[in-house]
Amino acid sequence: MGKWFEIALWKRILAALVLGVIVGMIWGPGTESIAWVGTLFIRLIRMVVVPLVFVTLISGVVSMGDPSKLGSLGVRTLAIYMGTTLAAITIGLILAAILQPGVGVDFSSAIPGEVQEAMPLTDRLLSIVPSNPIAALAEGNILAIIFFALLVGVSLLTLGEKGRPVADLMDSSSEMMLRITHWVMEVAPFGAFSLIAVATGTQGVEALSSLFTLAVAVVIGCVAHLIIVHGVLIMHFTLKLSPYMFFSGARDAMLVAFSTSSSLAALPVSMSVAEEKLGIKPVVASTVLPLGATINMDGTALYVGIVSVFAAQAFDIPLSLTDYLLIAGSTTLVSVGTAAVPGASIFLMSAVMDAIGMAPEQIGLVIGFIFAIDRPLDMLRTSVNIAGDLSVSTAVANWEGEFDREIFDR
Ligand code: ASP
Repeated sequence: MGKWFEIALWKRILAALVLGVIVGMIWGPGTESIAWVGTLFIRLIRMVVVPLVFVTLISGVVSMGDPSKLGSLGVRTLAIYMGTTLAAITIGLILAAILQPGVGVDFSSAIPGEVQEAMPLTDRLLSIVPSNPIAALAEGNILAIIFFALLVGVSLLTLGEKGRPVADLMDSSSEMMLRITHWVMEVAPFGAFSLIAVATGTQGVEALSSLFTLAVAVVIGCVAHLIIVHGVLIMHFTLKLSPYMFFSGARDAMLVAFSTSSSLAALPVSMSVAEEKLGIKPVVASTVLPLGATINMDGTALYVGIVSVFAAQAFDIPLSLTDYLLIAGSTTLVSVGTAAVPGASIFLMSAVMDAIGMAPEQIGLVIGFIFAIDRPLDMLRTSVNIAGDLSVSTAVANWEGEFDREIFDR
């Protein structure tokens, strides 16, 4: 038993993933019988998200000491998140234009998927202000929770001594939630094993041949984005940190993102590695990461860009430069407030393909067609999403002087 805990968590999760793929291939649909282990893990980890975000954000803001710092933190964070998302879509669009994954694809075998309506932008922005904070907590509406927690944190700061008891309570509550997160993480190897075994065992591979180029484009795009955009961000725009150290610090969170296909489920782990391995101080980790989980989805944006071009190519719809800009702009906007759950990009995609003038029937066909490979690509893009959140947080922490180099180098 002691030996088990001596092995680094990421090694245990990685081994579980490899074993899960093998078991999935051998056992096939029978793996459904162990699906409950994965569900249990996801439930445990999602149980932590809302209280963790709420209390750590409040105690983070209080630890900052000066509410006016929030402004520069917020502006920088939003600007870099938007910048990296745009970079991701650009990489996706370029790859799709070069590799042409959609040329010659025949949709006749596709069973149309469900086209999802996007909420209008004004409604999405308005929903950031909760009409009832308790309901926002109960529904897990992260942006609304962030908004309310920021107000609570700032008000405690302005209250000074009077605010102390609540501030102390929040501080010890965040320690408590991080402790629970650690415990839950011990279930990760079993959860990852079950999730990947079921995904491998129940996934058909028939459609794979015509989707091969698409999958290759996504894989190349994700790797390129990690190396070019985030590698460079870490190496040049911050204190010349080592990308190798960054990715080793981030790997627990990336692996959980990979196994669960949900940035939201990976959020507690990314918050804990941010503080304990990457040296990001609580004020940045507790504000920038939850925001990133909901609004910053680099891997997803890259994917949506590639799929939109793929669809246009398959239906012989010529794309002008304006269309490419439209894809980039609408993906960035719609991704704000898109739930960070498995398959969220299906929803994003509907909105983006609609923006370039595709008919709902065509969109339905594309969604149905790519569904076969959505899960493995979702795993990949979700870990890219989480890596993006962590690298932007590292950069922001550095700029704001909220970075502990000793922890990072360790
Ligand atoms: N599963 C992704 C996430 O949670 C979103 C998506 O690409 O579907 O970040």
